[in-house]
Amino acid sequence: GADTINDEITAHKTGATHVADKLTGNRPDTIFEIGGQDSKFISIKDDIVVDFTMNEACAAGTGSFLEEQAEKLGIQIKGEFAQLALSSKNPIRLGERCTVFMEKDLNPYLQRGAKVEDLVAGLAYSIATNYLNRVVRGRYIGNCIFFQGGTAYNDSVAAAFATILDKEIIVPPHNGVIGAIGAALLAKEKMEAGLGNEQSYEERISTFRGYDLEKVDYRIRSFVCPGCSNHCDIQEVRIGDERTYWGDKCSERYRKQAKTDKKPIIPDLFAFREELLFGKYDAKDRKLDPNKKTIGIPRAMYTYDRLPFWGTFLSELGFNVVLSEPTNKKITNYGIDSVVAEPCFPIKLAHGHVRDLLEKGVDYIFVPNVINAETEFMNVNSHLCPWGQTLTFVVKHSPMMEGIEHKLLQPTIHFRDGRDTVVKELQDFGKTLGLDRSKVEKAVDLAYKAQSKFQKALLEEGQKALKILSDEDELGIVIVGRAYNIYDMGVNLAIPRKLRDYYGVNVIPMDFLPIEGIEIVDVNSNMYWNYGRKILQSSKIVGKYPNLHIIYITNFKCGPDSYIKQFVTKASNGKPFLSLQFDGHSNDAGFLTRCEAYLDSKGFLRWWKRQQQQIAV
Ligand code: SF4
Ligand code: SF4
Repeated sequence: GADTINDEITAHKTGATHVADKLTGNRPDTIFEIGGQDSKFISIKDDIVVDFTMNEACAAGTGSFLEEQAEKLGIQIKGEFAQLALSSKNPIRLGERCTVFMEKDLNPYLQRGAKVEDLVAGLAYSIATNYLNRVVRGRYIGNCIFFQGGTAYNDSVAAAFATILDKEIIVPPHNGVIGAIGAALLAKEKMEAGLGNEQSYEERISTFRGYDLEKVDYRIRSFVCPGCSNHCDIQEVRIGDERTYWGDKCSERYRKQAKTDKKPIIPDLFAFREELLFGKYDAKDRKLDPNKKTIGIPRAMYTYDRLPFWGTFLSELGFNVVLSEPTNKKITNYGIDSVVAEPCFPIKLAHGHVRDLLEKGVDYIFVPNVINAETEFMNVNSHLCPWGQTLTFVVKHSPMMEGIEHKLLQPTIHFRDGRDTVVKELQDFGKTLGLDRSKVEKAVDLAYKAQSKFQKALLEEGQKALKILSDEDELGIVIVGRAYNIYDMGVNLAIPRKLRDYYGVNVIPMDFLPIEGIEIVDVNSNMYWNYGRKILQSSKIVGKYPNLHIIYITNFKCGPDSYIKQFVTKASNGKPFLSLQFDGHSNDAGFLTRCEAYLDSKGFLRWWKRQQQQIAV
């Protein structure tokens, strides 16, 4: 029943931009949106949505809360509330705790003789502070701030924002329906572009059902989804044979895939890499030699980069090599239960993978202590993160390894120092297993060959993909980040795959790009993180191709990434990028909304608009 399907972020941004163009010509770079039930924050750079967030699943701190409090105080929310609040000389500090608790404080204040105007002014401040601390949470706030949504009718909340931030707050006209204005504009744009049906513009008939809603025969049903332990309360709206669902925390079960008229024009590089990396280990007919000892490698962390090397090395030494299962709920829970500290999610997961291998009954588990990586730029370090380096020691002290510490194989390796150093380090390690030095040396050389063959294959596919996109003048997204974040679908909720499947995006992971020889000193002269250098080198390639854009996949608590991210825009020649931070939670809806808004800004979803612009040029 709609002429177009768009995410609400794009709708809000489109509406706000339209109003700004009509009003002042000064488009917003920041949108605060506080509605009756939820609130959102949108950050815009060069007309592109670069960040977006919304409040958690509670309505505290939104318009409905203010309305309830006004009712309790016996004042009108329309007009009177703001009038009283703005007349206050001493707003009461109600703090920035959850507004539900704050509510309990109101009566004692009144009993102690607090003035109503000071109390309502305090409430307005609380809404603003809560929003800034619980929704914006330190994100960048620009200088052209639009405050929209129903709560923006309340001038005292706008004034509270202006005072706290010491910035001008613009409440645009029609602030309560800006998102609806945006949605209408998007529908109009799509109709004008001639998509959706064959008739001329005058003949085109809108499929929007909302004009005659009272005549539509619909049925509503509520039920609890038994799909997983979230037990979501689902609302089903049925019109004829068509069903629409609301209330799901995941987008797998009930939501229709986002509509896209586009199909990717490059092959699925994720599937290609997965087969190349894991194919032989995951083969159904794979048989292990019962006369050999078995070494397990956790399918986590640097395994996503270095498996060709380690798999070959250990096989050549005469071991069966097995991997832990792909990340699943059980492994995730194992990881969370097994950690002894509070590291980032990938490190927790690695613990879960070790436990999975223990359950498989392997003889040894291989978790090397890799200090650094190869680099062409020997004047700058190429460290791996301390958490990654020391994982093997942390795992050793986790309760699951008690009494079986000897099962952990933990050679220390400096890949940066070259083949001879690596041979020596691994010969020393081999000695502990009674292995012959020359056998180890031969295994190392074969391991290097396997690794290089793997990387070459990726680069070849990447070159082909770049050529297709250039020849066809098509858009592509380069996914940057650490291999264990980009490729472990259990970490990133399969967002890279969904970009391709749901939105028809041409997705290129960063290790398919020819980064060799690319200098980054102009962006950062001392990028001592190995991944940091690669991420910035990849971003530089993106900067050279007008049709490429970046999504950065990372996770909370990643110190190195929070530093590296600051340089990505500069490296990519000023291109705003989308950053997705994963933390082990299973709801992908927020991530998909962010992706939709970003993809829309970059012309992936309303691709007809890009074509029109190209024709106009
Ligand atoms: S998260 Fe998805 S599968 Fe789980 S209960 Fe909710 S809707 Fe069902
Ligand atoms: S680089 Fe970040 S994600 Fe990787 S181990 Fe270190 S903190 Fe964790």
